[in-house]
Amino acid sequence: MSELVMVEQRTNGLDAGSVWIREGGERLEGQDCDARLMALRVGLRRHFGVRAVGAAAADETVDQALAALHGSRHLEALAAAGEDPEVMPELAPPGLEPDIPVNAALVAAAREAVRTAISAADRLVAGDRYAYAVCRPPGHHAGPDFIGGYCYLNNAAAAVQALREGGLTPVGILDLDLHYPNGTSELVERMGVDATLHSLHAAPVTNVALGTLLPRAPRERAYAFTGAPDPVAYLAEVERSLVELALDVTALVVSLGYDTAEGDPHGTWHFGPEVFAGIGRLLAATGLPVCVVQEGGYSLEALAPCSHAFAAGLLGDDPV
Ligand SMILES: [Zn+2]
Repeated sequence: MSELVMVEQRTNGLDAGSVWIREGGERLEGQDCDARLMALRVGLRRHFGVRAVGAAAADETVDQALAALHGSRHLEALAAAGEDPEVMPELAPPGLEPDIPVNAALVAAAREAVRTAISAADRLVAGDRYAYAVCRPPGHHAGPDFIGGYCYLNNAAAAVQALREGGLTPVGILDLDLHYPNGTSELVERMGVDATLHSLHAAPVTNVALGTLLPRAPRERAYAFTGAPDPVAYLAEVERSLVELALDVTALVVSLGYDTAEGDPHGTWHFGPEVFAGIGRLLAATGLPVCVVQEGGYSLEALAPCSHAFAAGLLGDDPV
């Protein structure tokens, strides 16, 4: 049976819960917190074929990846963040209002998430077929010089960068979070023929400026579902993307969100765990190395059943 290397984020006991700003400037506690990591690990560990390791990438490697992806103004603004959550309008996505504030604890957690994603990609470079970065905060709404939707630094793009540096190129990125990956899109576009992005997400897309046409880059497939999709129709589109990507990529980075699951506080869809088992099976069928990077998914009850189902689909059911 194949093995899935689960890469665990260093949390250092930091309580870096997310903060959200509602229209009118009111600050609310967000849904992204370290308890998500625990729930995801519990679900994965329950599978016989999952082996846990700690995030191992060195500080210099993290710094180099961040410098390659994000602008110096972006990184300097985050590094200057204090203890209290602060709105940074200069880091709002192009044409949009800022929606998340920044504080030092969240920036520290975001750096650890990047370390986790790079460490997972490094496992593929070292020869493992499957690795799963159990990381938070998510990253796919963080662009070259903007933050948004709980995302400060782009974990998936850092994984792609690590694969390219390790010689696993070109890379296909499949984003299966409920939301369109506006940050990953801009970062992948800059990687040229080294990377192709496919995203399946909910319509309407609200995290790009009004009037933006999708796909917004040449090497991108953007498939939007109006209303909650039927799981069979959804998995057919996942398969279509994977068949297309498998034609010319050497490895896959999967931005996996469980905010498509029933009961998600930021979601509107109704997927049960079996959909994620289906995704796992389709990934296994590609024959490609797969680096999973955790994006959204905020229902603490749904996370463990979904991550366990994903592992079972990818690796085959437990031999019990
Ligand atoms: Zn999402």
